[in-house]
Amino acid sequence: MKLSYVPYLLEFKHPFGVSSNTRTHTPTVFVRLELDGIYGYGEACLPAYLGESVDDTVSFIQKMQALIKAFSSMEDLEGLRSLMDRNFMKNNAGKAAIDTAYLDLKSKLKGKTLHALFGLDWKSPIITSHTIGIDAEDKMKEKIGEAEDFKILKVKLGTENDKKIIETLRKFTDKSLYVDANQGWKDLGFAVEMSHWLKEKNVLLIEQPLPVDRLEDMGRLTEKSPIPTIADESVKRLCDIERIEGIFSGINIKLMKSGGVSEALEMIRKAKENGMLVMLGCMAESTCATAAMSHLSSLADFVDLDAPTLIKNDPFYGINYRNGSILLEEGPGSGARLKESILNFM
Ligand code: MG
Repeated sequence: MKLSYVPYLLEFKHPFGVSSNTRTHTPTVFVRLELDGIYGYGEACLPAYLGESVDDTVSFIQKMQALIKAFSSMEDLEGLRSLMDRNFMKNNAGKAAIDTAYLDLKSKLKGKTLHALFGLDWKSPIITSHTIGIDAEDKMKEKIGEAEDFKILKVKLGTENDKKIIETLRKFTDKSLYVDANQGWKDLGFAVEMSHWLKEKNVLLIEQPLPVDRLEDMGRLTEKSPIPTIADESVKRLCDIERIEGIFSGINIKLMKSGGVSEALEMIRKAKENGMLVMLGCMAESTCATAAMSHLSSLADFVDLDAPTLIKNDPFYGINYRNGSILLEEGPGSGARLKESILNFM
C-alpha cells in the first residue's frame, strides 16, 4: 500500500475578502492512497487561519507514509483514524486528507459510491449556498450576477459596515441569505439587535457571531435571536460538541476541522442526538474534498459546499453545480476525478 502527496496552490477567481483579510490563493496538499493500481484521493486545504502549515502537513504525511508502507490490505487500514490520533495531536487537515483518500479507495474497491458505503441516501437536489466575498459595490454586483444559478447566498460580515453590506446586496438580489460574522461582533447587545434586523432582511442563519471565548454571551444571543446561530470556529472535532450544546442552535462541520469524513459523520449524529442543527461547510478546498463531503448531505439541514466554484485552477473535476444544486459524476468513490497528469505525486 502506498501513500503519496503533492503540495498545490489553489487560485481564487476573485480575491476573497472576509472580515479579517483578503486572499488570492490557498495552499493545499493532495494525497493519494494506492492499492493494486486503484487510487483514492484526499486533500488537506490550509488557509492561514486554520493554523496548520504546508510544512507541518507534509511532515505529518511523510511520517504516515512510513507507517502505511507496512500495510498490505484494506483490513490493515481499519484502525487508521485512531492510529493518526494516537500518534499526532494536531494536523486535522492532514488527517482529513488521509481519511478521505482511504474512504475513496475503499468505496472504489467495493464498487460503491461513498454515501452507499455509509449506507446513506443521496439527497436530490442538494441545494448549496454560494459565498459572496466582501468587496466594492460594483464587484459585489458582478459576483451576484455570476451566482445567478444559486438559490441561497452566503455573505461574510463581522465589520463595522455590516448593515451597509446587506443593504448593498439587497439592491441586487432578494434571495435568502446566510450570514457569517467570523467572530467579528464584540458586543452582545449589538449582536442581538443585528439578529433581529437580519431576520427582517430574509437572513436564515448567523454563523459564529461572537468570538470563541465568549460562550456565555453566545448562549444568551442564541436565546434571544429569532434566527438560528451556527458554531464554526467554536467547534472543530467530535469532542467539542458537548461544550457548546445549548450555546448555539447548530454546528458547521468542515472536513479540514473534523479530521475527515468518518468523524464528520459521527459529528452529524452526535449533533442530531442533542437536537442541534447541522450545516456542512468547506474552507476553500477543491473538488477533491468537497465532493467527498457532499455524500453526507442527506443528513444536513444546511449545505454550504461551493468552494470549487470559487477556484480557477481546480486539478479535479466531478462536481457540477446546476440550478444551485450539487451534481456528482457517476461511479464509485467520492466522485472526484483527477484531471490528467496535472499533479506529480511524491
Ligand atoms: Mg464560518
